[in-house]
Amino acid sequence: MLIKSMQYLGFEAYEKSINHIDSTVFFMANIEGKTVIIIAEQDSAAAKTGAAGFTIENLGSGISCAELTHENACVLRKLFPWTAPVRGLGKPKSFGLGDRLGIAAPGHIDLFITNDIFPVFAQQSIRELTLTNRTYEDVLDAATFAVFREGYKKGFGADGDHLKTEKDVEYALSLGFTMITLDCSDYIKNENVITDSAPIPSIYKEKYLNKTFSIEDFTLVFSEEELGKCLTVYAEAVNFAASIYNKFFTDGKYNADLEISIDETASVTTPLQHFFVARELLDAGVLFATIAPRFCGEFQKGIDYIGDITQFEKEIKVHAAIARSLNYKLSIHSGSDKFSVFPVIGRETKGQFHVKTAGTNWLEAMRVVAVRDPVLYREVHSFALTVFGEAKKYYQVTADLSNIPDISEIEDVDLPGLFNNNETRQLIHITYGLILNHKNENGSFAFKDRLYNLWKQSETEYRRALVKHIGRHLELLSKN
Ligand code: ZN
Repeated sequence: MLIKSMQYLGFEAYEKSINHIDSTVFFMANIEGKTVIIIAEQDSAAAKTGAAGFTIENLGSGISCAELTHENACVLRKLFPWTAPVRGLGKPKSFGLGDRLGIAAPGHIDLFITNDIFPVFAQQSIRELTLTNRTYEDVLDAATFAVFREGYKKGFGADGDHLKTEKDVEYALSLGFTMITLDCSDYIKNENVITDSAPIPSIYKEKYLNKTFSIEDFTLVFSEEELGKCLTVYAEAVNFAASIYNKFFTDGKYNADLEISIDETASVTTPLQHFFVARELLDAGVLFATIAPRFCGEFQKGIDYIGDITQFEKEIKVHAAIARSLNYKLSIHSGSDKFSVFPVIGRETKGQFHVKTAGTNWLEAMRVVAVRDPVLYREVHSFALTVFGEAKKYYQVTADLSNIPDISEIEDVDLPGLFNNNETRQLIHITYGLILNHKNENGSFAFKDRLYNLWKQSETEYRRALVKHIGRHLELLSKN
């Protein structure tokens, strides 16, 4: 089904995509089920110059058609700068929307067009790229084309998420990504296995030891033991972040926000450790927009927070105060479906946060499959059960599969309700790569093409589902 389409110059056009530059009109349309960009020269004298750099097929009468390729996406971003990502982490509220399938942005646009939260429509980690067989070109282009099609001109970001190497940072930045989430975890020591404690250099003793740091209503004091631990666990991570910053962020070649991610670690980031990392980075001249600490409790994929909410509240109060006092924002990763802590996050950060989601957008797409094509859903579900063990290599979840209802005993109408079951959510959540890439004996995809076909026909449902489900995230984050 085509949404908001109209007849325009003889094409089945997306109404909101109609844009003019001088006498040339550019818009998206469907030709035989395929979405393309139409370029129509309305002044016959200028007809030769109309295509504006696109790689095109000439349809005659001053009209040409450009396919949705990476090269044409690059041209589109130049011609219409609002289709290119911009920096926005400096805004009070920002929100990351990992769209692993490249089809969620229209629904996200419906939601973010009406609020003051800066959206990061393109956000994917290398792990997700590998598991979905996508490239950063695809991820960015999907956002660009959706923004053009929907006429969304408020600005959006693109996040190279959880990048660990110079090569990957350069890859994302060279394509125009406007945010880099630097994953420092390879340089963070596991404090549970530290045995030796090296002597603390005097420069750190003078700076921190037994000094009192007043952060709003809190005071932080570093004992010798705590300071030693900060140094052993985080010193290398600080050096790594500084080296990346100096290489890519200081000469003005790229224009992007930097997020420091220290969340994928074996132990919780204490407020002292958070403060230490931030101070050391700032003293090394590193300017960053956000830090993602590892909070207490568990932020498992695609389900609500697991842990002591009172403890979480106590700790995020201090983390948020540290971030405010040093002038950056807290970033909350694995933010999908953390409904019980969203009000706390919104309140304690005083409405200044970055929250990332990804898997929940995929789960909503699969919920649509359960509604629209129970037969296909049952096939995918059964397959997921067989590969769950393998998928656990990539994602840490605690789901006990014995809690998943036997789908052979479930009526079709009750299949969507499975997505209210945490174990089913985690089952489907972490097996996405294996589901999408699974092939039949003849080499064709077992599910991928059928799924995308269905999602194409179910665009309205998926948009509505995202508006409702991500909307619930935003509402709770704004509730104080
Ligand atoms: Zn993370």
